[in-house]
Amino acid sequence: MRLVSRNTALFLYGFLVVLPTLVLGGLHAWQLHEDQKQRLAALPEEAQDAARRLAEAARARLQARIDAENRRPFYHYRERFFPPGTAGADLVFMPSPLAAGSPPPGILGWFTYDFRVGPDAPVEVLPPPDSGDEEWRAMRPSLERTARRLVRHDWEDGVLRRIARYGPGYRTERVPLALAAVNTSPERDIDCMRAEYPKLAQLERLRIGVHVYDFHLRLFRDDDGTPRLLATRLLVFDADPQLAHMPDCFARLAEGASVIQGVFLDPRWAFGEMPFEISSEVLDPSLEFVHAGSAELEPTPGKQSGKVVVPVPLAETYGLEVYDPADLRIGTVGVLAHTHELQALLRQQWWRFLGMAAMLVLSLSLGIVLLLRSVHRDIEQARRTENFVAAVSHELRTPVTALRLFGEMLRDGWASDPEQEAEYQRRIVEESRRLETLVERVLEKSRLDGDPGASSAASVQDLNACVEQAVRDLVGTGPEQDLALELAPEPLEVRLVPEAVRSIVVNLVENARKYAPVGANGRSNEPILVRTARVGSHAVLEVADRGPGIPRAERERIFEAFYRLGDEATRSARGTGLGLHLVRRHALALGGRVEVRDRPGGGALFRVQFPLA
Ligand code: ADP
Repeated sequence: MRLVSRNTALFLYGFLVVLPTLVLGGLHAWQLHEDQKQRLAALPEEAQDAARRLAEAARARLQARIDAENRRPFYHYRERFFPPGTAGADLVFMPSPLAAGSPPPGILGWFTYDFRVGPDAPVEVLPPPDSGDEEWRAMRPSLERTARRLVRHDWEDGVLRRIARYGPGYRTERVPLALAAVNTSPERDIDCMRAEYPKLAQLERLRIGVHVYDFHLRLFRDDDGTPRLLATRLLVFDADPQLAHMPDCFARLAEGASVIQGVFLDPRWAFGEMPFEISSEVLDPSLEFVHAGSAELEPTPGKQSGKVVVPVPLAETYGLEVYDPADLRIGTVGVLAHTHELQALLRQQWWRFLGMAAMLVLSLSLGIVLLLRSVHRDIEQARRTENFVAAVSHELRTPVTALRLFGEMLRDGWASDPEQEAEYQRRIVEESRRLETLVERVLEKSRLDGDPGASSAASVQDLNACVEQAVRDLVGTGPEQDLALELAPEPLEVRLVPEAVRSIVVNLVENARKYAPVGANGRSNEPILVRTARVGSHAVLEVADRGPGIPRAERERIFEAFYRLGDEATRSARGTGLGLHLVRRHALALGGRVEVRDRPGGGALFRVQFPLA
């Protein structure tokens, strides 16, 4: 029965409390995991988005630069030019705005080149060598070399490829003939130009068509590996037969002319400074700009822990022409998203969850312990009541049966002699006393249960006197000489109720007689010792025997109501488990306490302490 009810309690607890907790905990852990997965999955998307925004903004910024160049008049690409609207008697030249100081950020220089002259035509880079700062001056010769190389390259490429390269984007302007003629002629023919200029001025009203192609961007490496970002445009002047009668210095324009103009853009600006500047506007603070050429952009096998890098191929975004696809890498920057912040967040959430789980486990375990204890207590209580019922019915039936038996025997004249008759009468008295004791104990207990403050009836009296009286009454009820009394030499003044002390002594002595009878089973003949003494501020009453003693584990429990050692079936001595309980109740009511210990030399020693008055 005990096992079944404990298992039922455990099952119900597990089913109603532990299982839902485990399920909820598991669900929460799963949810944490899923959320993190989603956040991690969203991260590259966010970075992709940011990368797209960055690329678009950088492309627009570069396009703005190129648009400004597209709008620039073709004659600005010379150191000195013949300005429009100045046609008159004299040929005047103005310095180009591109020829002063070093070029603005993002631009390294400009150049122009007359395609009619052939691949070895001189190419001059603007601004001129005597302007600009040191760094720029040092760079200029290499720009010139690059421009010349480009001219040769484009010449070898042929016109068709060239036209294809420059594509359909062009605008056609009609410019004054003089403006086109002077500004496309080399300045070294200045004398010829001056001589013929008046003739040219007469044609002032005439206009000539010029097709200005959009700038085309290309990215390549120089012979020494320096990356170059170059925008070039083609100008095609319509052939004009009216110019055929002009002298050589202008006559070439009669067959039409094609001029290439270029802008050296700074790759460090286009792939570095400019997108970096933009990144501070378009990237969230959680995202980071990765510079071109950084190790972060190297493709690493497997997943990189802690970060996600999205490459931004600016060279492709800008629509650059490359001669070697590997050159595209020059213009690849990146957007880096850190996952370690997410991971730190997850860790934090996990710790919080584990803390909660630990607390739950703790309280669930505590719950199980408390539950088992309470179940155990209930079972014990049930067991004790069961024991009591068994004991009481046994204790009642035995004397009642004996009484009836001896009564009948006397009535029916079974006693053959007066001695036997006296024996039957003695047994009847003994059995009825036992019955009385039992009834009294049960009544005593219920009295104590009903009125725990029984000590209000207490008065200061000598403990010795009470104990002596109780022992004297007991002497006649048991075997001869089985009691020894040792009283303290001085009176022990204690607040007490004589009936309570008497109950204590009687119960303890009767137990000793029951469980440790003097001389029985080869036991020592030493009588049961009843002793009083003064110990410090206490009066002590002790009852000691030479019996089996009380096992250590049972020393607390024997004072509980209806608690008996062993099993009802295996117990030989009669009892109800109430005696020691009553002893303790009386002792407590008088402000004292009771304990049992091993008696030195064997046996049990019950000691009751009362505070001295
Ligand atoms: P009862 O005597 O009616 O069984 P008690 O409350 O007086 O109930 O005693 C409780 C139990 O303590 C007894 O069942 C017995 O096993 C044990 N006990 C009591 N006194 C002694 C003793 N002097 N020696 C050994 N065991 C004892």
